[in-house]
Amino acid sequence: MFVFTLYLFLWSWLSSTHTLEFRYHNSVEVEQYLKDINRMHPNITYLHSIGQSVQGRELWVLILGQHPREHRTGIPEFKYVGNMHGNEVVGRVLLLQLINYLTSRYLSDPWVTRLLNSSRVHILPSMNPDGFESSARDCMYTIGRYNKNGVDLNRNFPDAFQANSERKREKEVRAVMDWLNTETFVLSANLHGGAVVASYPYDNSNGGSELQGGKSVAPDNDVFVHLAKTYSSSHTEMLKGDSCYDSKDFTDGITNGYYWYPLPGGMQDYNYVWAQCLELTLEISCCKFPQEKDLPGLWQVNKPALLAYMQQVHLGVKGVVMDFNGNPVQNAVVEVEGRRNLCPFRTDRNGEYYRLLLPNNYTITVTYPGHKTITQTISVPYGPDTFTALTHNFFLQKSDYSTAATQPPQCCTTPNQKNLENNSAALLSSTLTALTAFTLQRLLLC
Ligand code: ZN
Repeated sequence: MFVFTLYLFLWSWLSSTHTLEFRYHNSVEVEQYLKDINRMHPNITYLHSIGQSVQGRELWVLILGQHPREHRTGIPEFKYVGNMHGNEVVGRVLLLQLINYLTSRYLSDPWVTRLLNSSRVHILPSMNPDGFESSARDCMYTIGRYNKNGVDLNRNFPDAFQANSERKREKEVRAVMDWLNTETFVLSANLHGGAVVASYPYDNSNGGSELQGGKSVAPDNDVFVHLAKTYSSSHTEMLKGDSCYDSKDFTDGITNGYYWYPLPGGMQDYNYVWAQCLELTLEISCCKFPQEKDLPGLWQVNKPALLAYMQQVHLGVKGVVMDFNGNPVQNAVVEVEGRRNLCPFRTDRNGEYYRLLLPNNYTITVTYPGHKTITQTISVPYGPDTFTALTHNFFLQKSDYSTAATQPPQCCTTPNQKNLENNSAALLSSTLTALTAFTLQRLLLC
């Protein structure tokens, strides 16, 4: 009996302090690890699958936070996505290490505790498990990059600048699109390999006003540059601007996506344009599939950056738009002056809005059919240091005039095929034919 009790004690102790091996875990092992973590930390984790790969592997997402099972008003949603390209595997490894780091330090590390108490973190270690299982352990080539159908998942999303709405969406892409409809993500990053740089939207352009000096500049460009520099400046190698096999200028370790190379159908533009989630593409290793002995070092250089980036979910201002009865209002448009987003940011089903903004004064306009337009100027402080964005609620008043017929915005935050067709057609003013060859030329890198 004593031996059995001692065994239970040791098992419990080892489970709570266990370290995760630095090696490549296959899909079965990853699933088992996530289930073990969920079992060991049921109060701060929730494990679910957002769908299946073509070969039927589950796309597991572990949610971490004080209330992992459901969204709470004022708690921003953050996500990391790894291994979208099956042979770019460092992100997959690092996200498992990150899960280990966060769960093992909750309540003992003040920073981790504040992060998980103030935000909800979603981690999808592998978006392309089929590709991973078929990958060659090679630094540069593409074996395993695509999903089982041979499709590049980072070219398969609806594109804001190029009409591709007729394209068949792969199961993995559809799963992510549906996921974006179930959660209002505020900040995100997807992790790749083959370069060391933080790339930010836009990835594409149709030659319109967004095209400036070879870059495709988003309305929230200042925020994107800040976010990219947050990652690169916390990563000693990235900050040096190491371009690996590339000749592009990666000053400060960051680049505009389009400036690097035009990329239609990418996930980060889709997140930004249609899901009002600011997403970066983080390239975190020159070698796509490095030797296992290199993994501890890659974790050490990326760990501070992964942590610092998550904290940025608290930039800017957030709040609820309410009607005159104090009820949250969905689909109110919340616009920041000077930022003409292709799809206006709108309140979600909880009446909430989140706008990542750098410290400054901003004029914000709230519009909702049948109600008076609200315009207020707000002074926004730097939120990450205190783990909260500024909270500012808006209260609508009924309009004396009949504005019920006000046209809703062209874009919808819950895209369906009709919206995508309308929007792509509206945004598309020229083709990217001349750029296609260049895109293909650069395909091997990201
Ligand atoms: Zn990639």
